Amino acid sequence: MTKTNDEYDVIVVGAGAAGLAAAAHLGRNGKSVCILEARDRIGGRILSVRPRGAAMPLELGAEFIHGESPAIFEQLRLAGDLAIDAAQTRYRVPQPGHMKRSEDLFETMKERLQSIPKPRADLPFAEFLEKNQKRLSPTVRAFATMLVEGFDAADPKRASAIEILKEWGGGSAADAPTFRPQRGYGALMDSLAGSLDPAKSCVQLECAVNEVRWRKGEVIVGFTRHGEPGSVRAAQAIITLPLSVMQLPALAPGSVLFTPALPKKQVPLSRLLMGPVVKLVLCFSRPFWAELDDGMHRDVAFFHAQGAPFPTFWTTLPVRAPVLTAWTGGPNAARLGMRGTDEVLRPALASVAEIFGKRRDYRRMLEAVYWHDWQSDPYSCGAYSYSGVGGGPARRQLAKSVAQTLFFAGEALDEEESSSVGGALNTGQRAAKELLQG
Ligand SMILES: Cc1cc2nc3c(=O)[nH]c(=O)nc-3n(C[C@H](O)[C@H](O)[C@H](O)COP(=O)(O)OP(=O)(O)OC[C@H]3O[C@@H](n4cnc5c(N)ncnc54)[C@H](O)[C@@H]3O)c2cc1C
Repeated sequence: MTKTNDEYDVIVVGAGAAGLAAAAHLGRNGKSVCILEARDRIGGRILSVRPRGAAMPLELGAEFIHGESPAIFEQLRLAGDLAIDAAQTRYRVPQPGHMKRSEDLFETMKERLQSIPKPRADLPFAEFLEKNQKRLSPTVRAFATMLVEGFDAADPKRASAIEILKEWGGGSAADAPTFRPQRGYGALMDSLAGSLDPAKSCVQLECAVNEVRWRKGEVIVGFTRHGEPGSVRAAQAIITLPLSVMQLPALAPGSVLFTPALPKKQVPLSRLLMGPVVKLVLCFSRPFWAELDDGMHRDVAFFHAQGAPFPTFWTTLPVRAPVLTAWTGGPNAARLGMRGTDEVLRPALASVAEIFGKRRDYRRMLEAVYWHDWQSDPYSCGAYSYSGVGGGPARRQLAKSVAQTLFFAGEALDEEESSSVGGALNTGQRAAKELLQG
């Protein structure tokens, strides 16, 4: 039986943004912390790769900063890094090969939606659109569906209409100013991990946690490492497991057994869903899109082709590089997920041809493709959370601590910036503060 150094003040399960933020805060406040992480790396759903010779990191997970997230900007400041404005010019492709500058459909959609009475009882977003067919044009309905699927990674037939309308009614991430960390999200996580005091904290990689045994004031976390069982003991624990891992039925492969069980978490867990995303980073020999139509599209950041297998592409602007990112979320991504690279690349290149015309041999121009299958990965089982029908209070309920002993964090638990790195950092810090106050 492997035992890591037996006694810590706090065990943090998961070394993603939430876990690292929690550990850093606890460490600054004098607590000894053991972070147990299943993967052989930190960062969780942040995965920056830097192929040999590449001038910039490629993000296979989180990439953008949506809005001026205070937690991310503070982390950037501490890391000595900057946020770079991401370009926003959008083109859509109403017919294959024909591009049109996108008028601001988001504002139009918001206005139309605001003119409709809010539903009193929650219902699936698709049903809400159907009920309001007469008041919402087909263009607005199609745009709203694309946004729910593509941005929220949600299935409109399951997503909460009330929560989507709330998201778009306020300062929504979907139309907030967007940035990227200059050195990439991976560097931000490295800096966060680097801020941990090695005398008091340890990050144990390749420790797949399978049990959390607890009573007030004591937690024993069981894990396997290279096939060997191990355990760590502490007075308290912060659990930052992704929603989808928390949702696994007890004793299912990859599940984490809480003993005693946490019955109050079951209803909120059933009200949130994990959305799928397929994101491919396509590195070409040259930026062919910038050369089309006498360079007319050289300053375009996003290309949208509704109905294509990959309806969204973006460039690296303001940085100029021959790199296009293909993105699909929601039901489309669920259909594409869990396949080999060639099987996802084929529809991605078909979508490229739909947008940029069929005359070029895009496969020949493609030098490399990078992606991560977040759906099949047992430590994420999806990309990020969204709220199902009746899921309004679920995030808050899941974030509630138990007996001042178990604390919870992770993007799915944040009400302000859920589904994002900002949300994950917020909850990690909040859980650590709550623990320290007890
Ligand atoms: C393709 C993609 C694109 C995205 N784009 C953006 C974006 O542009 N902007 C943005 O803000 N957000 C984006 N996100 C979402 C963002 O990445 C997440 O919201 C955030 O990183 C979640 O952090 P977390 O700490 O809550 O969870 P995680 O990062 O998932 O951390 C949880 C950790 O727990 C570990 N773990 C899981 N099971 C176990 C176990 N049994 N034992 C031990 N450890 C375990 C995991 O390995 C992981 O390291 C994207 C996500 C994906 C997948």
